[in-house]
Amino acid sequence: MSQETIEFHYGKHHQAYIDNLNGLIEGTDLAELPIEEVIVKAEPGPIFNNSAQAYNHSFYWQCLTTPQGESNAPSGKLAQAIDEAFTDFATFKTQFSEMASKHFGSGWAWLLVGKSGKLEMLAMHDAGTPIQDGLKPLLAVDVWEHAYYIDYRNKRPDYLAAIWQIIDWQFVESQYDATAPSSLMLPE
Ligand code: MN
Repeated sequence: MSQETIEFHYGKHHQAYIDNLNGLIEGTDLAELPIEEVIVKAEPGPIFNNSAQAYNHSFYWQCLTTPQGESNAPSGKLAQAIDEAFTDFATFKTQFSEMASKHFGSGWAWLLVGKSGKLEMLAMHDAGTPIQDGLKPLLAVDVWEHAYYIDYRNKRPDYLAAIWQIIDWQFVESQYDATAPSSLMLPE
């Protein structure tokens, strides 16, 4: 992932969601609430869209790290749970990339803990987030065009093939081990 992608995606797209949200909730009851509560309380519309996008992007950045090579993989309880849900890690990666690459239009690909307590993968449209349904997100991959267009142009599958080398599995594992979604570091 190039510096230019980070500069635009983090510095401009993500920042715009934060700025829009701050403007929308300034002086309202929502202004002092944790972002997760803003998302749950928001009606469909601009406050939901901007709060969910602010949250999703913060989550996404924390899922990424420096290049770790082809062998980058989860360990411990999370690795076991992935094997149980998807047969093995290689199958999980193939299925997740396929789901994310076939998702029509803008949105997010998630690994999450479903209502049953088992791991599930889910593609959600636009600002969709597991938080709105009370589900625990573990891994977020942005599939909006702005996430890959600078580096990969129209080739979303190439972005998805490369991203496995920069997933921060320690962060994903920490989310799986946590009893509730952790509070995220949000930009000002
Ligand atoms: Mn994005």
